[in-house]
Amino acid sequence: MSTAATTSPGPARDHVFHRNLLKKYPLAVRAAGVYIFDGDGNAYLDASSGAVAANLGHGVQEIVDAMAAQASQVAFAHTLRFETPVLAQTARRIAHLSPDGLETVYFASGGSEANEAAMKLARQFHLDSGRPGKHLVIGRWQSYHGNTLGALSAGGDVGRRTSFSPMLAPYPHVSAPQNESLQPVCPHDGGPDEQFDYIAEFEQVIARVGAENISAFICEAIVGSQQGAVVPPTKYLGQVRELCDRFDIVLIVDEVMTGFGRTGKNFAVEHFGVTPDIITFGKGVTGGYAPLSGMIVHDRIVDIIRERSDGVFRHGYTYSGHPVCLAAGNAALTYYTDNAVLENVVTQGRHLRGLLDDLQSRQPRMGPVRGRGLLLGFDLLDVPGRRHITSEAFNEMAMQNGAIFYPGKGRIDGIRGQHLLIAPPLTIQRVDIELMVDILEKTLTDVDVEVSS
Ligand code: PLP
Repeated sequence: MSTAATTSPGPARDHVFHRNLLKKYPLAVRAAGVYIFDGDGNAYLDASSGAVAANLGHGVQEIVDAMAAQASQVAFAHTLRFETPVLAQTARRIAHLSPDGLETVYFASGGSEANEAAMKLARQFHLDSGRPGKHLVIGRWQSYHGNTLGALSAGGDVGRRTSFSPMLAPYPHVSAPQNESLQPVCPHDGGPDEQFDYIAEFEQVIARVGAENISAFICEAIVGSQQGAVVPPTKYLGQVRELCDRFDIVLIVDEVMTGFGRTGKNFAVEHFGVTPDIITFGKGVTGGYAPLSGMIVHDRIVDIIRERSDGVFRHGYTYSGHPVCLAAGNAALTYYTDNAVLENVVTQGRHLRGLLDDLQSRQPRMGPVRGRGLLLGFDLLDVPGRRHITSEAFNEMAMQNGAIFYPGKGRIDGIRGQHLLIAPPLTIQRVDIELMVDILEKTLTDVDVEVSS
């Protein structure tokens, strides 16, 4: 593939406030299936589904048509005044996919907004239940919940937090379990990870801060961008649930990245048999066709709002329940079912895992592969005497080779920084899985340059 790409005009003429103002971006002019094409006709295999959002691949006509039809019917009706048929229908379908007890769905636009709403709902729930002091949210160092200041305060992405410290809210944090396949390093003292008692640490934080001050605990069931597909031990989430029950803490599980089949289940909590009080979602609900997110709320919270707050959740966004976004969500949910997408995740996820494990056994730069379904990842390791490469730079090279992965640097103490997340559209087929792994292997070979000491 040619390395020349049609790019954005660059800083001199560009009026776009890009993520990086100094960088030139290839112009995406067309997308179909698992590929994005730039202006020069270069094809990029979208091995990260954008930001793990384009879960159904590109160019699904049914979703486009549903959005167009809704836009000409009712493009916008304020949810303070109206319900639209597509609102009720989409909420019902999402509730049916969720664990029992989580029956009511609140909509927003992005994942950060959904988590902000969840944290506010937890506070209102306690206030209305006669526990006004419960206001703090406990987050985890190894979780990401969004870039708004509230979500950033609860999240643990130190890289994103540093420039904005002190945080808006002084939320306490605990550590999150590492995957058994990772280097056995405890986040605090460098000791073996398996000897670190995460639940005991959580209890200590509750004791230090005071349960009467804690409204919620927020975590990802399987950590996505922050550490690259880290799966906790099977018992962990259940133990968290017990602590939350014991101390009247609302358990919010952030499934913005994992929801709607990404890990081989509709929601990642199903791997652990745990029912949260609130699940937040985003990204995959529309497959990236429109910005839609939200929270699925347990009856025990909804009942309190009904009974004690005249039914009013004191929160709202202009674009909550936007009909065109809901039409995209509704059509995407139909597509998931009609095309047996969940089954494809299990089959192709297993195939991809096998190929990656095999590659890892031959590639010293790859740490052990981890994850579930089509949310897989590995650490990018340094090899003595060979060139060091960041995951971001690695991904740039992979793009030159024709695939886009999801680079990250997750570890809070800098012990282990670079990882690569592999999260292609959930509709990907065997042939593209194999091409994706070939491109990964080629890129690993390309970077394997000797350095003179
Ligand atoms: N929560 C998780 C787990 C995420 O992965 C993300 C985004 O990557 C967010 C929240 C924030 O979502 P958004 O960027 O749509 O605000």
